[in-house]
Amino acid sequence: MVALRVCVLASGSSGNCIYVGGNDTHVLIDAGISCKATTERLAALGVDRIDAVCVTHAHEDHKSSLGPLQRRLNAGLYANSETVAELEKHAKSTGLSWQRFVTGNAFPIGSLKVDTFSVPHDCKEPVGYLITEGERKVGIVTDLGAPTELIRQRLKPCQVIVLEANHDVDMLRDSDRPWPLKQRIASRHGHLSNHAAGELLCEVAGPHLHTVFLAHLSRDCNRPTLALHTVSEALRKKGLSHVTLRMTYPDHASDVVDV
Ligand SMILES: [Zn+2]
Ligand SMILES: [Zn+2]
Repeated sequence: MVALRVCVLASGSSGNCIYVGGNDTHVLIDAGISCKATTERLAALGVDRIDAVCVTHAHEDHKSSLGPLQRRLNAGLYANSETVAELEKHAKSTGLSWQRFVTGNAFPIGSLKVDTFSVPHDCKEPVGYLITEGERKVGIVTDLGAPTELIRQRLKPCQVIVLEANHDVDMLRDSDRPWPLKQRIASRHGHLSNHAAGELLCEVAGPHLHTVFLAHLSRDCNRPTLALHTVSEALRKKGLSHVTLRMTYPDHASDVVDV
């Protein structure tokens, strides 16, 4: 029996870490919370080992425990060369052993197939992931300024999607953040708004899509209820009410979903 399950262990600008478990393989996408919190939240799922950590990009909220996870759990680390080069500029991430992939290529990790694709974000060579076990697919895109045709293509076959719903456009505009920061967040290389997340889902959702995790919510410029409302309204208007939305949290794990 083919199994694929997903749990967002933490999400937000304070740290991101997503668990994907296949038949006999356990991987994390990003490692932005402490090793202790990661292993505790994995233990709550009954998982006591990690085969690999796949990194989306080199921002601090995605990388802080890469070293401890490799040293203590012997996890393989996967990233493209530009991301590895960025990570190696910081002492915490030197001396690690990397599996480098070429963005756009797919590779196996145990029973899982891992597809990589580029996303627009203000970092060197950021990527999203499409992870497949048998016929089951989960797409993960958590830091992106705007959807691209490639992102739409990769998300279309998924039964489960982890998608950024970073900010509410009005809350971002009215916040007391400095103007350049507001511009950066709202730009094509920044973060996706609730509204843009809803639009993208309406474009990619097929009858097989059953669950979407809303991820990377801004603490200051969003509210979980607002993100849920905006995205669910967009889906309802398109007749896509069969899609279940699940929230993710900065300080604890989400629900676990079978893909
Ligand atoms: Zn980022
Ligand atoms: Zn981030």
